[in-house]
Amino acid sequence: MDPVTLVALGSVGAAALLLAVGIQRGGAPGATRSGDRASPDAAQARARAASAEERAAVAVRDVGVLVDLVGIGVVRVAEDLTVVTVNEAAARLLARRAAGLPGRSVMEAFTDHRLEEIVQAALRTGAAVGELTIRTTDAPTLLVRARRMPAGDAWVVLEDVSELRRLQRIRTEFIDNLAHELRTPLTTVSLLAETLALEADQLPPRTAERIAKIEVETGHLVQMVNELLDLSKIESGSTALVLDDVDLARLANATVERLSLFAERQGVRLVVDAAGVAPRVRGDGERLGQALLNLLHNAVKFSPAGAEVVVRVAASEHEAVVAVVDHGPGIPRAALPRVFERFYKGDRARTRGVGGTGLGLSIARHVVEAHGGRIWVESEEGIGSTFAFALPITGPDLAATPGA
Ligand code: ADP
Repeated sequence: MDPVTLVALGSVGAAALLLAVGIQRGGAPGATRSGDRASPDAAQARARAASAEERAAVAVRDVGVLVDLVGIGVVRVAEDLTVVTVNEAAARLLARRAAGLPGRSVMEAFTDHRLEEIVQAALRTGAAVGELTIRTTDAPTLLVRARRMPAGDAWVVLEDVSELRRLQRIRTEFIDNLAHELRTPLTTVSLLAETLALEADQLPPRTAERIAKIEVETGHLVQMVNELLDLSKIESGSTALVLDDVDLARLANATVERLSLFAERQGVRLVVDAAGVAPRVRGDGERLGQALLNLLHNAVKFSPAGAEVVVRVAASEHEAVVAVVDHGPGIPRAALPRVFERFYKGDRARTRGVGGTGLGLSIARHVVEAHGGRIWVESEEGIGSTFAFALPITGPDLAATPGA
């Protein structure tokens, strides 16, 4: 169950309870304290209070049973990090016995500093999320979400995501194996088509045309397989980032250079706007270059002939931002949240049937997030799109140096 719903349900119960107590203590509205004349009113108020109290108690108990039933762990922690309540599911997921946990500190109760850190972060900032693997024989993976409540304490919701993570691992391995198997024969076919295309002038025109088509399509397949391999490598974290000081203005110029031929063919002008800033970040230059290349490739691909695409590099005190601005067809509002999903491809008619794998933005997102950054898009149909990513500028020595 969604923690907000849970808390909301709890609040309804609690409000009913408070109402009931309030009515019992202060008397029902309109009731007078003196004389027998008030008795029927008082008796009615008492009955209403009793029934409200009963309903509240049932609601609270039902929520508790429901939460246990769906196997979601719920822990309430006071501001001083003392455990207030723990349901059965939480105790089971954390391999503890529920009885005896309330009243102890989070660390004492669960002996897990990662859990304590998540709760501390939520108490400090309002909300925190983390994932941890419990050190028991079946080592479950728990998704932990904590949120600070207006009263000052925090609710912690624990969900067992072991099966989900296992399936995601299997999917990644499957894609990885498949792509590896496909790469060799596809590369061979692609090379053969290329060789045949070189002899096109000695072949009948229709055959030459078909060979050209084979060459283009196998090129797409090779690109897709390579992107799949890249994505599964990045997703599985099997290739560590090779960190270095990356000069983003230089990276922008180098990426524009790499795409200059393609842009020329499309009749699109590429411009780098990095005036006055030279933000440097700690990152993997090759991977960041790949992310920017994917954004820029799309911008050129979707731009009409004669249009301009600008790569803008800017920096604030903490962040460096790289934005790719185009005047292409734009993206429908409904599609915006989906464009970074793997295999998402826009409507072919709208994008004039331009080819693509639907993996480019997914790769860019993974690369940027692996650097602790964020990526987003702003777009309006008929006006154009701006794809941008922000990366943290780490040390003061790496901060933007205006005019450099
Ligand atoms: P693809 O290989 O299809 O370009 P991407 O993951 O790079 O895959 O992009 C996913 C989809 O997002 C594209 O198919 C397209 O619909 C949309 N898209 C991406 N960039 C742009 C852009 N600059 N302008 C318009 N649509 C875009």
